[in-house]
Amino acid sequence: MIYRNAARYQTSRTLFEQARQTISGGVNSTARATWSGWDPHPLFVEGGQGAYLTDVDGNEYIDYLLGLGPMILGHRPAKVTKAVVEAIESHGTVFALPAVPEMELAAKLIAAVPSIEQVRLCNTGTEAVLYAIRLARAFTGRSKIIRFEGMYHGFSDGVYWSKHPDPEQSGTDRAPIAVPQGPGMPAGLADSLIILPWNDTALLREVLERHGHEIAAVLTEPVMCNTGCILPKPGYLEAMREETSRHGVVLIFDEVITGFRLALGGAQAHYGITPDLSTFAKGLGGGFPVAALGGRKDIMALVADGTVSMAGTYAANVIAVAAANAAVDELSQPGRYEMLYEVSDKLRHGLERVFADAGVPALLAGVGPVFQVWFSETDIHDYRDAARHASHAIFRRWWEGMLDRGVLFHPGAFENLFVSFAHSHDDVERTLAAAREVATLLRS
Ligand code: PLP
Repeated sequence: MIYRNAARYQTSRTLFEQARQTISGGVNSTARATWSGWDPHPLFVEGGQGAYLTDVDGNEYIDYLLGLGPMILGHRPAKVTKAVVEAIESHGTVFALPAVPEMELAAKLIAAVPSIEQVRLCNTGTEAVLYAIRLARAFTGRSKIIRFEGMYHGFSDGVYWSKHPDPEQSGTDRAPIAVPQGPGMPAGLADSLIILPWNDTALLREVLERHGHEIAAVLTEPVMCNTGCILPKPGYLEAMREETSRHGVVLIFDEVITGFRLALGGAQAHYGITPDLSTFAKGLGGGFPVAALGGRKDIMALVADGTVSMAGTYAANVIAVAAANAAVDELSQPGRYEMLYEVSDKLRHGLERVFADAGVPALLAGVGPVFQVWFSETDIHDYRDAARHASHAIFRRWWEGMLDRGVLFHPGAFENLFVSFAHSHDDVERTLAAAREVATLLRS
């Protein structure tokens, strides 16, 4: 693959060639790699401010990549940055002992998120999910986890399966098999996973009826945000809640993307469904690495009494706690999410109109500040719908057209566009103007 306007990205290209000599693949995470869409090379970043990002070639973008979600307050959110700097200068960074700001943060999380009665902090979403699963297994004395095809729950061995497998090579639509992300994952772990298509209430009910006694947890994103953006069908999350309760199965909401994004209380507040455990990361820290696992007190009691060990040298380090305290304060300001939804909805509905006016078949799927464009004529309700119907080739042309016009989001059709509190109505107008030009090109 080449960029049509290669000269525009020349410095990034040169740096990437150099980086590949010392950094495996030239990048430090799969989502930035050529094979994840940044083909022939990713952009190298100079910096970000508010809703904008500048690359090393001096191109400025309206940024809907937002670091894959954490920058919900925009880049360099002043109050979070100040809180972190002050905390480091006044206190330090790591003590391996507790401190008062951790208690303040815990109280804020409990107040904000409906299901959290007690909480533990860690550093990444991967860790939070890993601990949630371990807790569910310890609490129920059962070993199997239901996990849905097309979701991503971090890169730990136990769950890095069946993210985006080839549907023709991974079992039937109603009975997918567990497909590891790649070699190196112990094959035996497949036995601990039941992989299901998402959004199929009858099938979930059937499987819980048959296997409920051996299932520790149903692990789900409340909105599928790792295969583009797929909303739960009406009643699906409700049924999930009801059926897991009936079978004594722990319901885990992985709110790493939806948490502090769909609402201060996450998707669980937005949809009014209370899981047993939930995990948070990206939206929580205003751009700093911090994550949380929280939920029912009787389950968290296993952590409280040491039955389940949750360890971590850097867990609740001063930087993470200061950042999260400041970020949650910012997010808690009255009226903020209403404004976020206003700007986000204007963009999503605006794009819908742009494609309709241009005669380009496209579906805008999402909720508030997270959504994706499906270049598909068929509705998409689960991973296999997306794998079969969404055009990656058209998405690439759309993405590159927008990039050339100063609008940045991830090149992967299975990723998302994120809107931040820093995006303005003017940013949306400029984005829509660029989209009109690109939609016309797509049509031709
Ligand atoms: N869970 C979900 C839903 C995610 O989207 C991600 C990351 O994108 C993770 C877990 C893993 O989080 P982290 O990258 O912080 O380890």
